[in-house]
Amino acid sequence: MKKIAVLTSGGDAPGMNACIRAVVRTGIFNGLEVIGIMRGYSGLINGELKEMTLSSVADIIQRGGTILRTARCPEFTKPEGRAIAAKVLKDNGIEGLVVIGGDGSFRGAQLLSQEHGVNTIGIPGTIDNDIASTDYSIGFFTAVNTALDAINKIRDTMTSHERGSIIEVMGRHCGNIALYAGIAGGAEIILVPEIPFDMDDLVDRIREGQARGKLHNIIVLAEGVCSAYELLDRIKERLPELDFRATILGHIQRGGSPTAFDRVLASQMGARAVELLLQGKTCRVIGMKKNKLVDFDVDEALAMEREFDMDMYNLSKILSI
Ligand code: ATP
Repeated sequence: MKKIAVLTSGGDAPGMNACIRAVVRTGIFNGLEVIGIMRGYSGLINGELKEMTLSSVADIIQRGGTILRTARCPEFTKPEGRAIAAKVLKDNGIEGLVVIGGDGSFRGAQLLSQEHGVNTIGIPGTIDNDIASTDYSIGFFTAVNTALDAINKIRDTMTSHERGSIIEVMGRHCGNIALYAGIAGGAEIILVPEIPFDMDDLVDRIREGQARGKLHNIIVLAEGVCSAYELLDRIKERLPELDFRATILGHIQRGGSPTAFDRVLASQMGARAVELLLQGKTCRVIGMKKNKLVDFDVDEALAMEREFDMDMYNLSKILSI
């Protein structure tokens, strides 16, 4: 193998740049030519390629976002789109492709491999931490820290005014950002899509907090449950005497300088992807399981069921009594 390429796809996540850097530098260290593909699968179809050098990835390890940009590409979900993408790779002599993204991006890589024989390796990059084949995806802990920083600030003002607050965090159908940021931020209540919540129980818990003189009531709500304003209306209906406010953190959670953990994870995964390609491997997805770097066949990875951490959830309930 002489030439490989790297792209970022789906939602961006802090640490993607550290991962690109690791792919480029490990590739060059091993005598490979490394091509950066702009704007995910869209850029691949459009032939937006650029030669990566050691210095093209200098000074990016600390930056959020992705220097290669990212995109969603409906065309790539069709066989014709993938055929064009495969031709671009072939015409440019690219034998291996590293895809940094989520489940959808891995599905695309899998089809590109199966239909056109391109060697592909997937690396989990998403703040949602919703990929079953890894304990942690690149960007997750940075997003948790961003949410935590916001929770701390909201807590200051809510305590001063003796208000309650609902803080909606991202994660789509996955409650991990809410769970981790909620525990770290000392939230009274954490609502996640994996565990259905009961309004009567929620109201009781808020009342109990009031009765024991709590100065604030922080509810961390995962976006996959409902919107913060919907929950606010339901709380106001049941507890009109209390002053609750809603805050939706939104895209702030996708930005920012990656944490040390995300930079190290991204560096390890990026290097491993190149090593796998050099070993002639394809259709693999890299993960971190029990603190060990692992890789799975993409079919196996995509078939895995994500397990919600019930121990962590139960701990959050104990600590918030
Ligand atoms: P995130 O978790 O951040 O959303 P993702 O990789 O899951 O990341 P998607 O939008 O699902 O994000 O996928 C990114 C791109 O991968 C899509 O725009 C599309 O080009 C390609 N893709 C997704 N699903 C498929 C599929 N089933 N077949 C082929 N290509 C796909």
